[in-house]
Amino acid sequence: MIPVQGMKGLRVAVLGLGRSGLSAARALRAGGAVPICWDDNPVARAAAEMEDFDCIELGKQGAFEDIARLIVSPGIPHLYPTPNPVVAAALRAGVPVDNDIGLFFQSFATSEWNGFEIAPRVVAVTGSNGKSTTSALIHHILEHAGRNSQLAGNIGRGVLDIEAACNGGVVVLELSSYQTDLARNLTPDVAVFTNLSPDHLDRHAGMGGYFAAKRRLFSEGGPDRAVIGVDEAEGLFLAGQLSEGPVDDRVIRVSVAGKLGGPGWNVFARKGFLSEYRNGKQAASIDLRDVAGLPGAHNHQNACSAYAACRALGIPPRVIEAAFHSFGGLPHRSQTIGEKDGVRFVNDSKATNVDSAAKALAAFKNIRWICGGLEKEGGLDGLASAGDTVRKAYVIGREAANFAMQLNVESEVCTTMATAVSRAIAEAEAGDVVLLAPAAASFDQYDSFEKRGDDFVSLVRAHLD
Ligand code: ADP
Repeated sequence: MIPVQGMKGLRVAVLGLGRSGLSAARALRAGGAVPICWDDNPVARAAAEMEDFDCIELGKQGAFEDIARLIVSPGIPHLYPTPNPVVAAALRAGVPVDNDIGLFFQSFATSEWNGFEIAPRVVAVTGSNGKSTTSALIHHILEHAGRNSQLAGNIGRGVLDIEAACNGGVVVLELSSYQTDLARNLTPDVAVFTNLSPDHLDRHAGMGGYFAAKRRLFSEGGPDRAVIGVDEAEGLFLAGQLSEGPVDDRVIRVSVAGKLGGPGWNVFARKGFLSEYRNGKQAASIDLRDVAGLPGAHNHQNACSAYAACRALGIPPRVIEAAFHSFGGLPHRSQTIGEKDGVRFVNDSKATNVDSAAKALAAFKNIRWICGGLEKEGGLDGLASAGDTVRKAYVIGREAANFAMQLNVESEVCTTMATAVSRAIAEAEAGDVVLLAPAAASFDQYDSFEKRGDDFVSLVRAHLD
């Protein structure tokens, strides 16, 4: 655990008592602060009370008198579409609002660091898609290289639950836009921006707010090195804003859209090969085509981002290449479940938005595509290229008929996963790929993308056995 520093004896309110809220309360108490907890859900409050935390309704009049800070969980809207009433009350009372990520950066460095030969480093990864894969891959490469690495944030452990830093240790953090928007301290040594496409627009009042939330990781933090995907206008703009000029190698630019020229520090993937260029000269090249855990151009982007972050930490190219080959990938992201009669089954349940689903569709051919769910703001226009690789769509969800009507490929309204899987199996031929890549959330049918993926996997396994 990372005990929170600088709040000894102060009363700190904690709103939301899920994983990150409870761990913030524990870390605050360990640092000598007095956590005052609240969650609208009585079950969550009971869990906090079991650990002897005081639960006091933060919505009531005067609740913020004598409170030094409010710590908010990422699931709770702090500004858009409208601030949660407790957050609004704290803001009216002039109480600073923060989250566990802000507390972590405030507390990570200790006086013990004076005895270290190599200062611990923090790598933080944000972006619309590929954050988990990129963070997990960086962590995997670091472990493969024999470095002490801890993976935390949106993935792995809560950020305040990790071990105190050790000599030369690295913390790899996956950070969502909700987290970067709110954290009062945000000071990674290496910051990564994977890409940007519309998502969570209601929580950020549109694309500008969404980009601004992610940009805080770079503008507030002032990282030593910034790894930036420049295939969208926003990434290109951010890279330009952070560098002093073309030769400045504080920014490592990443692309999967083409060769990156120029004198700076560039990493790009083209035709399945990753290349690193520095000062106009090629520094390394890696064949990604037979790296089983990272299929498709989108994963080549993740490989480039992770490669660049690890190069910024001084890991040699050959060590990174070897680690790519032992990376198993993450569940629910381009995850091959098995093959039968020449038909391959792939679970990409994490493709909850149009952009990530489009990337999954581009990574395979002859696809029997299981998709559908609750459509997000922004529509399905981003799926226009589905016709290139999809043989037929099998649409699930309460809004399946409406969803199917907007696709430009042959489709069948299946509504349930069980029907979709059995119809896809019945029609699949050798060489086809049955791919779950919903392009939507499915809260009408499942609590989480993991449950949705697990359902698909168990139906597929029943067929494979
Ligand atoms: P995040 O943590 O940002 O949601 P994940 O690594 O969990 O990212 O991947 C989320 C979804 O996006 C998966 O469906 C995955 O196949 C797809 N994906 C992964 N990397 C990328 C990328 N670089 N660009 C677009 N989609 C991606």
